[in-house]
Amino acid sequence: MNFLEILSKFNWDEIGEKIDKITPQDVEKVLEKEVISEQDFLALVSKAGENYLEIFAKKSKERTQRRFGKTIQLYLPLYLSNVCTNQCVYCGFNHTNKIKRIILSDEQILQEVTAIKQMGYEHILLVTGEASKKVGVDYLENAIKLIKPSFASISAEIQPLEVEEYKRLIAAGLNSVYIYQETYNQEKYPFYHLKGKKRDFAYRLATPERLGEAGIYRIGLGALLGLENWRVEAFFMALHLRFLQKRFWKTKYSLSFPRMRPYEGQFLPPNPVSEKELAQLIWAFRIFDEDVEISLSTRESQNFRDNMMTLGVTSMSAGSKTEPGGYASCVTELEQFEVNDNREASELEAAIKQHGYEAVWKDWDKVFS
Ligand code: SF4
Repeated sequence: MNFLEILSKFNWDEIGEKIDKITPQDVEKVLEKEVISEQDFLALVSKAGENYLEIFAKKSKERTQRRFGKTIQLYLPLYLSNVCTNQCVYCGFNHTNKIKRIILSDEQILQEVTAIKQMGYEHILLVTGEASKKVGVDYLENAIKLIKPSFASISAEIQPLEVEEYKRLIAAGLNSVYIYQETYNQEKYPFYHLKGKKRDFAYRLATPERLGEAGIYRIGLGALLGLENWRVEAFFMALHLRFLQKRFWKTKYSLSFPRMRPYEGQFLPPNPVSEKELAQLIWAFRIFDEDVEISLSTRESQNFRDNMMTLGVTSMSAGSKTEPGGYASCVTELEQFEVNDNREASELEAAIKQHGYEAVWKDWDKVFS
């Protein structure tokens, strides 16, 4: 059975109603458990759960320290291209936006690499829009081979691919792929994804399964917070995570919680998520799963990231530029989203130290690949 078949057994509104009915007593019972089921998880993301946030934070901190120690892994996104054939209503790279489109050349990629290496990074996240003709597998394979000698670990946030295509990129040096469903609400999904390949909900949803089959080291999941009811969204994310963990048990998993930020466009998130709610969500996932990695990007404020760095998060970026060519300033164009925490990597490292944690620049070596 694939995950789409599992998802189809649930009704979005019914899950929402179930979460609304959760009582403080239900939350207390779940907090006493060591092993949390997907059904238990509903209590952790409920409104009733808001009354227990101090306990959530404490449990999340303990579980994170038990599994990861006092460490925060550092990574940096490298935007290779802003060309995109999709029309996602919430994104600055949306193909109807009249911005200059850029695909970094080999020389420009290497200029970016030089600038990024000066910051000390060993983990790089390659990001592109989705344009299979102009920024297809050949381009990505070439880019990975080009940068592989400079970094210990290479991740990517790129268009969904076929199993054989992923295998090619893994052979070239790719370690992890982050693929965000944006929303698990199948009925509403088309309203946010107006045109392009990304409109195909089922194909996107099956992408982590294709990644698992291709044998990728790490799969990243996420939903775009602000689109739909985050409590229901979180339940389906938890369901997806458990499904993948059972099926591809050798693979590592990572979660991200991108919260909608301003971009060049008029789209306002219909269901905005507050910082307090985001914290509840992160702690709920940590209580649910001790092993999963959780990252928090520069979309969030310095204050929030500093507060969260000891309470459940395991990786962070700093000094991020979300436009292609942004590090070496070889080209400057529109950012995909506005960065909220503008600290340099060294400043984030100092903040991590101040909190009694260690910034990890490298926990992986090319020879492991
Ligand atoms: S979210 Fe991704 S696929 Fe959608 S418009 Fe932006 S870059 Fe393209």
